[in-house]
Amino acid sequence: MPGTTRDRVYGESEWVGRTFNVVDTGGLVLAPEDDDAFTPHIREQALMAMDEADVIVFMVDGSEGLTAADEEVAELLRRTDKPVVLAVNKTENEERRLNAAEFYALGLGEPIEISALHGMGTGDLLDAVVAYFPPGRLDAFDEEEDDSVRIAIVGRPNVGKSSLLNRILGQERSIVSEVPGTTRDAIDTRITYYGRPMTLIDTAGIRRRGRIERGIEKYSVLRSMRAIDRAHVALLVIDATEGVTAQDAHVAGYILDAYKSVIVVVNKWDLIEKDTYTMLEYEQRIRAALNFMDYVPLIFVSAKTGQRVTKILDLALAVYEERFKRIPTGEFNRLLTEAQARHAPPSEGRRKLRIKYGTQAEVDPPTFVLFMNHPDLMHFSYARYLENQIRERYTFLGTPLRFRYRGSD
Ligand code: GDP
Repeated sequence: MPGTTRDRVYGESEWVGRTFNVVDTGGLVLAPEDDDAFTPHIREQALMAMDEADVIVFMVDGSEGLTAADEEVAELLRRTDKPVVLAVNKTENEERRLNAAEFYALGLGEPIEISALHGMGTGDLLDAVVAYFPPGRLDAFDEEEDDSVRIAIVGRPNVGKSSLLNRILGQERSIVSEVPGTTRDAIDTRITYYGRPMTLIDTAGIRRRGRIERGIEKYSVLRSMRAIDRAHVALLVIDATEGVTAQDAHVAGYILDAYKSVIVVVNKWDLIEKDTYTMLEYEQRIRAALNFMDYVPLIFVSAKTGQRVTKILDLALAVYEERFKRIPTGEFNRLLTEAQARHAPPSEGRRKLRIKYGTQAEVDPPTFVLFMNHPDLMHFSYARYLENQIRERYTFLGTPLRFRYRGSD
């Protein structure tokens, strides 16, 4: 993924025809603000991830043998009603494989010996994981049947997601219905906006429903991810008084990795002391903190005063239109020819990259297929150049573009 060097805590995977998200709970604690309370925080994040997962993989270190810490975690895991798969890592050699048997003592079933380093045993591990999946789709939400513009409202607790939603709904009279949790993670509100059906996917809503006690809600990256997965456009809400945090950047990264469109909504703008340059400076700061998102629109709002709140849905609709925009093939090929004439593609010795033709194969997200003589010569910097050329002419506001390279003689 070009331009994204941040740490990864999640990934989408596929095995025997099932797709699923994998989350590394260790990775969820990378936020620097958590440094002082490191251990309790790991525990909390792990507990939360466990609570939201369909299957838990408990990974132990086969080179160290069974430790007291393993037993502690196992104790916790035995009390969940979730399926647990026990993976013993670092079992590269025979001796360690023999030792792996001692992990039976954890009472979590058969230990699966793996080596993450060598990729050994991972097939068995995946088989064991997938075996616990519920049959068919994991998500009852049927996107194929739904023709609404789906907008997810995500962000850390207390940034004002609920207040914003209430404001939006208060100003929009034609609410059709509130669809009670199509998943257990979010509450969907159906509205009609200028004749367009829209679904607002609200991750804060479950707290209002009392599922999680007020005040103790913890930021759930997983919950945000699932809302984002179902959306066309994500509204990433940021608190103007706090700015972009590491967790905001994680979620922003996930939005783009999932090729979802995004708008950064800077809320609580009423609390900021302003002069002529404040908004511009603020915008630059936020763009720097999310430096891989320069095509993303920002909007400064106040859920409290209502300032610019009506603009949010207008902007979301505009971004949605961009997501479904199609560039005619003739035009696109002229752009490719001109771009290559202005700035020659990379070469290696006598091999010169030449992009012969291209086409926008899909919308939602916009996906471009490029046919070229030597796909291996396609460098990140040239891909970035081409993307900029496309955006210069067609913008694709707030929307990540996907490229596929095909070899052809
Ligand atoms: P959520 O956890 O993201 O849903 O956040 P809430 O909507 O519950 O808001 C958290 C707190 O911030 C509440 O006390 C709100 O009254 C306050 N708040 C929300 N939006 C604004 C805003 O635009 N300006 C100010 N001053 N306060 C706000």
